[in-house]
Amino acid sequence: MIVQSAPDREEEFAIFNHLESEVRSYARSFPVVFAKAKGTHLFARDGTAYIDFLMGCSSLNYGHNPPELKSALADYIERDGITHGLDLYNEAKESFLREFRETILGPRQLDYVVQFPGPTGSNAVEAALKLARKITGRPNVIAFTNGFHGVSLGALSCTGNRHHRAAAGQLLGAVTRLPYDGYLGSAADTADYLDHLLSDPSSGVDAPAAVIVETVQGEGGLNVAGTAWLRKVAAIAHRYGALLIVDDIQAGVGRTDGFFSFEAAGLRPDIVTMAKSISGYGLPMALVLIDRQLDKWEPGEHNGTFRGNCHAFVTARAALEHFWRKDSFAAAVAEKGDLLKSRLDQITRKYNPGQASAKGRGMMRGIDLKSGEIAGQVISTAFQNGLIVETAGPKDEVVKCLPPLVIGEDQLSQGLDILEHAIESVLGSTVNIARTRKS
Ligand SMILES: *Cc1c(COP(=O)(O)O)cnc(C)c1O
Repeated sequence: MIVQSAPDREEEFAIFNHLESEVRSYARSFPVVFAKAKGTHLFARDGTAYIDFLMGCSSLNYGHNPPELKSALADYIERDGITHGLDLYNEAKESFLREFRETILGPRQLDYVVQFPGPTGSNAVEAALKLARKITGRPNVIAFTNGFHGVSLGALSCTGNRHHRAAAGQLLGAVTRLPYDGYLGSAADTADYLDHLLSDPSSGVDAPAAVIVETVQGEGGLNVAGTAWLRKVAAIAHRYGALLIVDDIQAGVGRTDGFFSFEAAGLRPDIVTMAKSISGYGLPMALVLIDRQLDKWEPGEHNGTFRGNCHAFVTARAALEHFWRKDSFAAAVAEKGDLLKSRLDQITRKYNPGQASAKGRGMMRGIDLKSGEIAGQVISTAFQNGLIVETAGPKDEVVKCLPPLVIGEDQLSQGLDILEHAIESVLGSTVNIARTRKS
Protein backbone atom coordinates (compact mmCIF):
# COMPACT_ATOMS: atom_id res chain seq x y z
CA MET A 1 0.00 0.00 0.00
CA ILE A 2 2.79 2.41 -0.83
CA VAL A 3 1.46 5.78 -1.90
CA GLN A 4 3.13 7.40 -4.90
CA SER A 5 5.43 10.25 -4.00
CA ALA A 6 3.88 13.70 -4.18
CA PRO A 7 5.67 15.06 -7.31
CA ASP A 8 4.23 12.28 -9.51
CA ARG A 9 0.79 13.37 -8.40
CA GLU A 10 1.14 17.12 -8.93
CA GLU A 11 -1.29 16.86 -11.85
CA GLU A 12 -3.90 15.26 -9.66
CA PHE A 13 -3.97 18.21 -7.24
CA ALA A 14 -3.89 20.90 -9.94
CA ILE A 15 -7.33 22.36 -9.21
CA PHE A 16 -6.69 22.51 -5.46
CA ASN A 17 -3.28 24.08 -5.91
CA HIS A 18 -4.65 26.62 -8.34
CA LEU A 19 -7.96 27.54 -6.78
CA GLU A 20 -8.08 26.59 -3.12
CA SER A 21 -6.74 29.03 -0.56
CA GLU A 22 -3.45 28.37 1.17
CA VAL A 23 -5.46 28.16 4.37
CA ARG A 24 -6.19 24.48 3.73
CA SER A 25 -4.42 22.33 6.29
CA TYR A 26 -5.32 18.66 6.76
CA ALA A 27 -5.04 18.08 3.02
CA ARG A 28 -1.33 18.81 3.27
CA SER A 29 -0.75 15.87 5.59
CA PHE A 30 -2.68 13.44 3.40
CA PRO A 31 -2.01 14.29 -0.24
CA VAL A 32 -4.45 12.08 -2.11
CA VAL A 33 -7.93 12.74 -3.48
CA PHE A 34 -10.47 10.84 -1.45
CA ALA A 35 -13.54 9.43 -3.11
CA LYS A 36 -15.40 7.26 -0.67
CA ALA A 37 -15.74 6.42 2.99
CA LYS A 38 -17.25 3.53 4.88
CA GLY A 39 -17.03 2.60 8.54
CA THR A 40 -13.42 2.76 9.64
CA HIS A 41 -12.02 3.46 6.17
CA LEU A 42 -11.43 6.29 3.77
CA PHE A 43 -10.79 5.34 0.14
CA ALA A 44 -8.67 7.33 -2.27
CA ARG A 45 -9.80 7.78 -5.86
CA ASP A 46 -7.42 5.01 -6.95
CA GLY A 47 -9.11 2.65 -4.51
CA THR A 48 -6.38 2.67 -1.86
CA ALA A 49 -7.96 2.03 1.54
CA TYR A 50 -6.88 3.96 4.62
CA ILE A 51 -7.79 3.18 8.20
CA ASP A 52 -9.04 6.48 9.57
CA PHE A 53 -7.90 7.48 13.06
CA LEU A 54 -8.66 11.15 12.38
CA MET A 55 -12.40 10.69 11.88
CA GLY A 56 -13.17 14.27 11.04
CA CYS A 57 -11.31 15.24 14.19
CA SER A 58 -13.85 13.37 16.30
CA SER A 59 -16.85 14.41 14.18
CA LEU A 60 -17.44 10.81 13.12
CA ASN A 61 -17.61 8.88 16.38
CA TYR A 62 -19.78 6.20 14.77
CA GLY A 63 -17.55 5.87 11.72
CA HIS A 64 -18.16 7.01 8.16
CA ASN A 65 -21.70 6.71 6.83
CA PRO A 66 -23.08 4.48 9.61
CA PRO A 67 -25.90 2.46 7.97
CA GLU A 68 -28.60 3.15 10.60
CA LEU A 69 -28.10 6.90 10.27
CA LYS A 70 -27.77 6.78 6.51
CA SER A 71 -31.09 5.00 6.05
CA ALA A 72 -32.88 7.41 8.44
CA LEU A 73 -31.50 10.34 6.43
CA ALA A 74 -32.26 8.75 3.05
CA ASP A 75 -35.87 8.07 4.12
CA TYR A 76 -36.27 11.63 5.35
CA ILE A 77 -34.92 13.10 2.12
CA GLU A 78 -36.99 10.70 0.01
CA ARG A 79 -40.23 11.87 1.62
CA ASP A 80 -39.34 15.54 1.12
CA GLY A 81 -38.71 16.25 4.79
CA ILE A 82 -37.76 19.89 5.38
CA THR A 83 -34.05 20.51 4.77
CA HIS A 84 -33.75 24.08 5.96
CA GLY A 85 -36.15 25.32 8.56
CA LEU A 86 -34.50 28.39 10.09
CA ASP A 87 -35.56 27.91 13.69
CA LEU A 88 -39.17 27.09 12.90
CA TYR A 89 -40.85 24.32 14.83
CA ASN A 90 -40.55 21.23 12.68
CA GLU A 91 -40.85 17.49 13.10
CA ALA A 92 -37.16 16.71 12.68
CA LYS A 93 -36.23 19.07 15.51
CA GLU A 94 -39.14 17.81 17.61
CA SER A 95 -37.99 14.19 17.29
CA PHE A 96 -34.41 15.12 18.09
CA LEU A 97 -35.38 17.08 21.19
CA ARG A 98 -37.63 14.25 22.42
CA GLU A 99 -34.90 11.68 21.94
CA PHE A 100 -32.27 13.93 23.55
CA ARG A 101 -34.50 14.42 26.59
CA GLU A 102 -35.43 10.74 26.93
CA THR A 103 -32.03 9.20 26.22
CA ILE A 104 -29.49 11.77 27.39
CA LEU A 105 -30.79 14.49 29.70
CA GLY A 106 -33.48 12.56 31.58
CA PRO A 107 -31.42 9.59 32.76
CA ARG A 108 -28.66 11.97 33.89
CA GLN A 109 -31.11 14.29 35.61
CA LEU A 110 -29.76 17.27 33.73
CA ASP A 111 -32.19 20.17 33.49
CA TYR A 112 -30.78 21.98 30.48
CA VAL A 113 -32.53 23.89 27.75
CA VAL A 114 -31.09 23.47 24.29
CA GLN A 115 -29.93 26.34 22.12
CA PHE A 116 -29.22 25.71 18.44
CA PRO A 117 -26.61 28.27 17.43
CA GLY A 118 -25.03 28.35 13.98
CA PRO A 119 -23.80 24.87 13.12
CA THR A 120 -20.12 25.14 14.12
CA GLY A 121 -18.38 24.58 17.41
CA SER A 122 -17.01 28.11 17.35
CA ASN A 123 -20.52 29.48 17.13
CA ALA A 124 -21.61 27.44 20.14
CA VAL A 125 -18.66 28.83 22.08
CA GLU A 126 -19.49 32.39 20.98
CA ALA A 127 -23.05 31.91 22.22
CA ALA A 128 -21.89 30.45 25.53
CA LEU A 129 -19.48 33.33 26.18
CA LYS A 130 -22.03 35.96 25.24
CA LEU A 131 -24.64 34.45 27.50
CA ALA A 132 -22.25 34.18 30.45
CA ARG A 133 -21.22 37.83 30.01
CA LYS A 134 -24.83 38.92 29.65
CA ILE A 135 -25.94 37.07 32.79
CA THR A 136 -23.09 38.20 35.02
CA GLY A 137 -22.48 41.62 33.53
CA ARG A 138 -18.76 40.81 33.68
CA PRO A 139 -16.48 40.96 30.65
CA ASN A 140 -13.61 38.74 31.77
CA VAL A 141 -13.43 34.99 31.12
CA ILE A 142 -10.91 32.48 32.47
CA ALA A 143 -9.48 30.10 29.87
CA PHE A 144 -6.61 27.67 30.15
CA THR A 145 -3.21 27.12 28.58
CA ASN A 146 -3.42 24.87 25.51
CA GLY A 147 -7.19 25.23 25.38
CA PHE A 148 -8.80 25.19 21.95
CA HIS A 149 -12.25 26.69 21.58
CA GLY A 150 -12.45 27.69 17.92
CA VAL A 151 -11.15 30.47 15.69
CA SER A 152 -13.90 33.13 15.47
CA LEU A 153 -12.87 36.18 17.48
CA GLY A 154 -14.66 35.52 20.77
CA ALA A 155 -13.82 31.83 20.78
CA LEU A 156 -10.30 32.57 19.55
CA SER A 157 -9.65 34.82 22.51
CA CYS A 158 -10.12 31.68 24.67
CA THR A 159 -7.92 29.54 22.40
CA GLY A 160 -4.28 29.30 23.44
CA ASN A 161 -2.51 28.46 20.20
CA ARG A 162 -0.34 31.38 19.00
CA HIS A 163 -0.53 30.40 15.32
CA HIS A 164 -4.31 30.68 15.43
CA ARG A 165 -4.36 33.76 17.66
CA ALA A 166 -1.92 35.66 15.47
CA ALA A 167 -4.29 35.33 12.51
CA ALA A 168 -6.80 37.57 14.31
CA GLY A 169 -4.68 40.60 13.48
CA GLN A 170 -6.09 42.41 16.46
CA LEU A 171 -6.03 42.29 20.21
CA LEU A 172 -7.96 39.42 21.68
CA GLY A 173 -9.19 40.67 24.99
CA ALA A 174 -11.27 39.98 28.04
CA VAL A 175 -9.70 36.61 28.75
CA THR A 176 -7.31 35.70 31.54
CA ARG A 177 -5.17 32.68 30.74
CA LEU A 178 -4.40 30.31 33.58
CA PRO A 179 -2.37 27.08 33.74
CA TYR A 180 -4.37 23.91 33.02
CA ASP A 181 -4.12 20.91 35.30
CA GLY A 182 -0.55 19.60 35.18
CA TYR A 183 0.79 22.56 33.21
CA LEU A 184 3.36 23.37 35.91
CA GLY A 185 4.14 19.75 36.73
CA SER A 186 2.32 17.39 39.01
CA ALA A 187 3.36 19.17 42.21
CA ALA A 188 1.59 22.46 41.46
CA ASP A 189 -2.16 22.64 41.98
CA THR A 190 -3.20 25.21 39.41
CA ALA A 191 -6.78 25.26 40.75
CA ASP A 192 -5.40 26.62 44.01
CA TYR A 193 -3.65 29.30 42.00
CA LEU A 194 -6.96 30.26 40.37
CA ASP A 195 -8.58 30.42 43.80
CA HIS A 196 -5.75 32.56 45.10
CA LEU A 197 -5.99 35.03 42.22
CA LEU A 198 -9.73 35.45 42.56
CA SER A 199 -9.63 35.84 46.33
CA ASP A 200 -6.97 38.55 46.20
CA PRO A 201 -8.54 41.95 45.40
CA SER A 202 -5.14 43.10 44.28
CA SER A 203 -4.21 40.15 42.04
CA GLY A 204 -5.17 42.05 38.91
CA VAL A 205 -7.65 39.36 37.87
CA ASP A 206 -11.24 40.47 38.10
CA ALA A 207 -14.09 38.12 38.97
CA PRO A 208 -14.91 36.45 35.65
CA ALA A 209 -18.19 35.84 33.84
CA ALA A 210 -17.14 32.26 33.23
CA VAL A 211 -14.46 29.65 33.40
CA ILE A 212 -14.28 27.71 30.13
CA VAL A 213 -12.58 24.33 30.15
CA GLU A 214 -12.12 21.11 28.20
CA THR A 215 -11.92 18.00 30.41
CA VAL A 216 -9.46 16.55 27.89
CA GLN A 217 -7.72 19.03 25.62
CA GLY A 218 -8.07 17.84 22.05
CA GLU A 219 -6.09 20.24 19.89
CA GLY A 220 -3.95 21.18 22.89
CA GLY A 221 -2.35 17.73 22.90
CA LEU A 222 -4.52 15.30 24.89
CA ASN A 223 -3.91 16.83 28.29
CA VAL A 224 -6.29 15.29 30.80
CA ALA A 225 -7.70 17.24 33.72
CA GLY A 226 -7.96 15.23 36.92
CA THR A 227 -11.33 14.72 38.58
CA ALA A 228 -10.30 16.53 41.76
CA TRP A 229 -8.98 19.49 39.77
CA LEU A 230 -12.17 19.76 37.71
CA ARG A 231 -14.34 19.67 40.81
CA LYS A 232 -12.22 22.30 42.47
CA VAL A 233 -12.37 24.58 39.43
CA ALA A 234 -16.15 24.15 39.29
CA ALA A 235 -16.47 25.03 42.98
CA ILE A 236 -14.17 28.05 42.63
CA ALA A 237 -16.13 29.33 39.63
CA HIS A 238 -19.35 29.15 41.60
CA ARG A 239 -17.85 30.68 44.73
CA TYR A 240 -16.93 33.78 42.74
CA GLY A 241 -20.23 33.97 40.89
CA ALA A 242 -18.84 32.77 37.56
CA LEU A 243 -20.43 30.21 35.27
CA LEU A 244 -18.73 26.94 34.46
CA ILE A 245 -18.65 26.30 30.71
CA VAL A 246 -17.48 22.85 29.67
CA ASP A 247 -16.48 22.81 26.03
CA ASP A 248 -17.43 19.24 25.12
CA ILE A 249 -17.12 19.74 21.40
CA GLN A 250 -14.32 17.22 20.92
CA ALA A 251 -14.26 15.19 24.14
CA GLY A 252 -18.04 14.67 24.31
CA VAL A 253 -20.47 12.29 22.59
CA GLY A 254 -18.79 9.22 24.06
CA ARG A 255 -15.21 10.03 23.10
CA THR A 256 -13.93 10.00 26.67
CA ASP A 257 -16.42 7.60 28.28
CA GLY A 258 -19.98 8.52 29.11
CA PHE A 259 -22.01 10.66 26.73
CA PHE A 260 -20.56 13.81 28.29
CA SER A 261 -16.88 13.99 29.15
CA PHE A 262 -17.66 15.44 32.58
CA GLU A 263 -19.90 12.62 33.78
CA ALA A 264 -17.11 10.69 35.47
CA ALA A 265 -16.13 13.78 37.47
CA GLY A 266 -19.74 14.35 38.46
CA LEU A 267 -19.75 17.94 37.23
CA ARG A 268 -22.88 19.94 36.49
CA PRO A 269 -21.67 22.67 34.18
CA ASP A 270 -23.87 25.74 33.83
CA ILE A 271 -23.31 25.69 30.08
CA VAL A 272 -22.09 22.91 27.80
CA THR A 273 -21.02 23.39 24.19
CA MET A 274 -21.34 20.52 21.73
CA ALA A 275 -20.69 20.12 18.02
CA LYS A 276 -18.43 17.73 16.06
CA SER A 277 -20.04 14.29 16.65
CA ILE A 278 -23.44 15.41 17.89
CA SER A 279 -25.05 14.89 14.44
CA GLY A 280 -23.34 11.50 14.29
CA TYR A 281 -23.02 11.65 10.52
CA GLY A 282 -20.53 14.43 9.98
CA LEU A 283 -23.29 16.94 9.26
CA PRO A 284 -22.86 20.44 10.70
CA MET A 285 -24.68 20.82 13.99
CA ALA A 286 -23.93 22.51 17.28
CA LEU A 287 -25.70 22.79 20.61
CA VAL A 288 -25.42 24.99 23.65
CA LEU A 289 -26.91 23.36 26.72
CA ILE A 290 -27.95 25.96 29.26
CA ASP A 291 -29.02 25.41 32.84
CA ARG A 292 -32.74 26.17 32.74
CA GLN A 293 -32.39 28.93 35.37
CA LEU A 294 -29.74 30.65 33.28
CA ASP A 295 -31.59 30.84 29.99
CA LYS A 296 -31.61 34.62 29.91
CA TRP A 297 -31.63 35.01 26.15
CA GLU A 298 -34.10 37.38 24.51
CA PRO A 299 -35.66 36.07 21.28
CA GLY A 300 -33.15 36.20 18.42
CA GLU A 301 -30.40 37.77 20.51
CA HIS A 302 -27.97 35.22 19.17
CA ASN A 303 -29.15 33.95 15.82
CA GLY A 304 -27.92 32.48 12.56
CA THR A 305 -29.46 31.33 9.30
CA PHE A 306 -28.35 27.74 9.71
CA ARG A 307 -29.67 27.04 13.18
CA GLY A 308 -32.00 24.38 11.89
CA ASN A 309 -30.04 21.77 9.96
CA CYS A 310 -32.90 19.26 9.74
CA HIS A 311 -30.77 16.55 8.16
CA ALA A 312 -28.46 16.76 11.15
CA PHE A 313 -31.46 16.53 13.52
CA VAL A 314 -32.50 13.33 11.76
CA THR A 315 -29.09 11.66 12.00
CA ALA A 316 -28.48 12.95 15.54
CA ARG A 317 -31.76 11.45 16.67
CA ALA A 318 -31.01 8.16 14.92
CA ALA A 319 -27.58 8.02 16.59
CA LEU A 320 -29.04 8.51 20.06
CA GLU A 321 -31.70 5.91 19.41
CA HIS A 322 -29.38 3.37 17.89
CA PHE A 323 -26.32 3.72 20.12
CA TRP A 324 -27.24 5.48 23.34
CA ARG A 325 -30.59 4.03 24.39
CA LYS A 326 -28.71 1.03 25.79
CA ASP A 327 -26.08 1.39 28.52
CA SER A 328 -24.10 -1.34 26.81
CA PHE A 329 -22.74 1.13 24.24
CA ALA A 330 -20.85 3.28 26.75
CA ALA A 331 -19.54 0.12 28.42
CA ALA A 332 -18.26 -1.25 25.11
CA VAL A 333 -16.58 2.08 24.30
CA ALA A 334 -14.90 2.14 27.71
CA GLU A 335 -13.55 -1.35 27.10
CA LYS A 336 -12.18 -0.30 23.73
CA GLY A 337 -10.60 2.73 25.36
CA ASP A 338 -8.80 0.40 27.78
CA LEU A 339 -7.59 -1.66 24.87
CA LEU A 340 -6.32 1.45 23.10
CA LYS A 341 -4.53 2.49 26.28
CA SER A 342 -2.82 -0.85 26.79
CA ARG A 343 -1.62 -0.95 23.18
CA LEU A 344 -0.24 2.60 23.36
CA ASP A 345 1.46 1.80 26.67
CA GLN A 346 2.99 -1.25 25.08
CA ILE A 347 4.28 0.78 22.14
CA THR A 348 5.77 3.55 24.27
CA ARG A 349 7.43 1.11 26.70
CA LYS A 350 9.97 0.32 23.99
CA TYR A 351 11.36 3.84 24.25
CA ASN A 352 12.51 5.94 27.11
CA PRO A 353 10.00 8.42 28.53
CA GLY A 354 11.96 11.32 27.05
CA GLN A 355 11.15 9.99 23.58
CA ALA A 356 7.62 8.71 23.77
CA SER A 357 4.82 8.63 26.31
CA ALA A 358 1.16 7.70 26.07
CA LYS A 359 -1.53 10.16 27.09
CA GLY A 360 -5.24 10.86 26.84
CA ARG A 361 -8.45 9.30 28.08
CA GLY A 362 -11.13 6.95 26.73
CA MET A 363 -11.01 6.74 22.94
CA MET A 364 -9.08 10.00 22.75
CA ARG A 365 -5.50 8.95 23.26
CA GLY A 366 -2.16 9.25 21.63
CA ILE A 367 1.59 9.28 21.89
CA ASP A 368 3.66 12.30 22.79
CA LEU A 369 6.81 12.04 20.65
CA LYS A 370 8.33 15.19 22.22
CA SER A 371 9.10 16.70 18.82
CA GLY A 372 6.84 18.04 16.11
CA GLU A 373 9.32 17.01 13.46
CA ILE A 374 9.39 13.40 14.62
CA ALA A 375 5.61 13.26 15.03
CA GLY A 376 5.26 14.70 11.50
CA GLN A 377 7.52 11.99 10.10
CA VAL A 378 5.56 9.35 11.98
CA ILE A 379 2.17 10.38 10.61
CA SER A 380 3.57 10.67 7.10
CA THR A 381 5.08 7.17 7.33
CA ALA A 382 1.82 5.85 8.78
CA PHE A 383 -0.07 7.42 5.90
CA GLN A 384 2.20 5.72 3.36
CA ASN A 385 1.27 2.47 5.04
CA GLY A 386 -2.46 3.07 5.05
CA LEU A 387 -3.29 4.93 8.28
CA ILE A 388 -4.66 8.41 8.59
CA VAL A 389 -3.72 9.92 11.94
CA GLU A 390 -2.99 13.55 12.87
CA THR A 391 -0.89 15.43 15.37
CA ALA A 392 -1.92 17.85 18.11
CA GLY A 393 -0.23 19.80 20.86
CA PRO A 394 1.65 23.11 21.07
CA LYS A 395 4.41 21.84 18.77
CA ASP A 396 2.32 19.23 16.93
CA GLU A 397 4.31 16.68 18.89
CA VAL A 398 1.45 14.41 19.93
CA VAL A 399 0.11 11.76 17.56
CA LYS A 400 -3.59 11.79 18.30
CA CYS A 401 -5.65 8.64 17.75
CA LEU A 402 -9.38 9.20 17.35
CA PRO A 403 -10.62 5.86 16.03
CA PRO A 404 -14.38 5.52 15.65
CA LEU A 405 -16.04 4.38 18.88
CA VAL A 406 -17.57 1.48 16.95
CA ILE A 407 -14.27 0.18 15.53
CA GLY A 408 -13.73 -3.59 15.66
CA GLU A 409 -10.82 -4.86 17.72
CA ASP A 410 -9.09 -6.29 14.65
CA GLN A 411 -9.17 -2.96 12.84
CA LEU A 412 -8.06 -1.09 15.94
CA SER A 413 -5.10 -3.48 16.12
CA GLN A 414 -4.37 -3.09 12.44
CA GLY A 415 -4.25 0.68 12.72
CA LEU A 416 -2.08 0.54 15.83
CA ASP A 417 0.28 -1.93 14.15
CA ILE A 418 0.82 0.60 11.37
CA LEU A 419 1.42 3.34 13.94
CA GLU A 420 3.82 1.15 15.90
CA HIS A 421 5.86 0.37 12.78
CA ALA A 422 5.88 4.03 11.76
CA ILE A 423 7.26 5.05 15.14
CA GLU A 424 9.79 2.24 14.95
CA SER A 425 10.96 3.32 11.52
CA VAL A 426 11.34 6.95 12.62
CA LEU A 427 12.75 6.52 16.14
CA GLY A 428 14.66 3.36 15.28
CA SER A 429 13.83 -0.04 16.66
CA THR A 430 17.04 -0.45 18.61
CA VAL A 431 16.40 2.31 21.13
CA ASN A 432 16.14 1.04 24.63
CA ILE A 433 16.55 -2.50 23.38
CA ALA A 434 17.84 -3.73 26.73
CA ARG A 435 14.59 -2.82 28.40
CA THR A 436 12.56 -4.42 25.64
CA ARG A 437 14.49 -7.68 26.02
CA LYS A 438 13.95 -7.78 29.74
CA SER A 439 10.21 -7.25 29.56
C1 LIG B 1 -13.19 21.77 17.14
C2 LIG B 1 -13.38 22.45 18.41
C3 LIG B 1 -13.98 23.72 18.50
C4 LIG B 1 -14.39 24.50 17.28
O1 LIG B 1 -15.36 23.86 16.51
P1 LIG B 1 -15.53 24.30 14.98
O2 LIG B 1 -16.69 23.49 14.50
O3 LIG B 1 -14.25 23.92 14.29
O4 LIG B 1 -15.77 25.75 14.96
C5 LIG B 1 -14.20 24.26 19.75
N1 LIG B 1 -13.82 23.61 20.87
C6 LIG B 1 -13.24 22.41 20.83
C7 LIG B 1 -12.87 21.72 22.10
C8 LIG B 1 -12.97 21.80 19.60
O5 LIG B 1 -12.34 20.61 19.55
